[in-house]
Amino acid sequence: MSWQMARRAERLNPSTIREILKLTEKPGIVSLAGGLPAADGFPVGAMAEATARVYRDSGREALQYAASEGYAPLREWIAARLAAKGLDADPARILVTTGSQQGLDLVGKVMIDPGSRVAVESPTYLGALQAFNAYEPEFVAVDGDDEGPRPEGLAAVAGARFIYLLPNFQNPSGRCLSDERRRALAAAAAAAGLPIVEDNPYGDLWYDQPPPAPVSAHAGDNAVYLGSFSKVLAPGLRLGWMLAPRALFPKLLQAKQAADLHTPGFNQRIVYEVVKDGFLEQHVPTIRARYAAHRDAMRAALETHLPAGCRWQVPSGGMFFWIELPAGLDATALLPAAVAAGVAYVPGAPFFAGGGHANTLRLSFVTVSPQQIERGIALLGQVLKEASA
Ligand code: PMP
Repeated sequence: MSWQMARRAERLNPSTIREILKLTEKPGIVSLAGGLPAADGFPVGAMAEATARVYRDSGREALQYAASEGYAPLREWIAARLAAKGLDADPARILVTTGSQQGLDLVGKVMIDPGSRVAVESPTYLGALQAFNAYEPEFVAVDGDDEGPRPEGLAAVAGARFIYLLPNFQNPSGRCLSDERRRALAAAAAAAGLPIVEDNPYGDLWYDQPPPAPVSAHAGDNAVYLGSFSKVLAPGLRLGWMLAPRALFPKLLQAKQAADLHTPGFNQRIVYEVVKDGFLEQHVPTIRARYAAHRDAMRAALETHLPAGCRWQVPSGGMFFWIELPAGLDATALLPAAVAAGVAYVPGAPFFAGGGHANTLRLSFVTVSPQQIERGIALLGQVLKEASA
């Protein structure tokens, strides 16, 4: 039997990151590759208590099929939180998704025709490239500078179905856009008639000061805004949301229905029980403190061990350092040597829609301990010194 697969299936590739994660499961490897949140920070006790309350008070409803839009009290809670960030967040515009990754897929399904253009940052989140790619777009990279995508670059991508933006502590670069740049991007997108898809899984993980208001706060009905509980509670819940323009909401909802009917109502009720009385206000600062210490450990280790010619910026939030190696070094080609030496990272090239940038790599500082970070960066420094010699 030979299976004739759809064209879009040919465009699905094994995720480079998942392949690398497999490598790093070998014992003894310090993995700075995967962006797995530190499991020590998962609020297991609060989740267990909330689960017991959900079973006790609404077990039958929680186990039943539920509304595709999401659990109403949770949508209201999300809307109130977004309103505090300056967004016009009517709960009727909130769609609860199975992780924000599903939000990206639904946007792709509703917005992209084969051959239509999608504007992206350079680099951008690999998982978004993968989600959109199945719908056969042509990616166009927006011209950027040290501060992120350039507002002047948006006219050149007018006519694209949307621009995908990650303003807060971007995966993979760690960069956070200034307030000025956000306002200018919103204005330039409006002028170019270019809709915005803004992805914000990392905004609460700030270590120095809170990030400026979202681009969407300046974009009116011209933006879809995606958020997630993965980084502030736990990724295994698969719980995210999108705030969608009124004109788009019904189609996104229909796409959601077709995809999975609804996000597990059980998880939604548990998370609502956990967050409704302000739990995140005490919990998220503990994650920030932990990750800030990890970031500082990585910064110190990089300064000590990386050879001259390597460049990086210290991220003010999120999970990643982004390293530029001296030109001529290829992070993909060096990975086997690094893994043999006992350290893993993610090569940067797959994060660029247009290819190139072989001399970049991403390091996560959240999963392993500060001691392991020091050890891993020392090993990486050794590998890089040998490669540049
Ligand atoms: N967007 C970005 C930028 C991410 O880094 C991630 C997770 N790695 C996601 C979306 C997806 O997150 P989730 O589906 O867990 O909400």
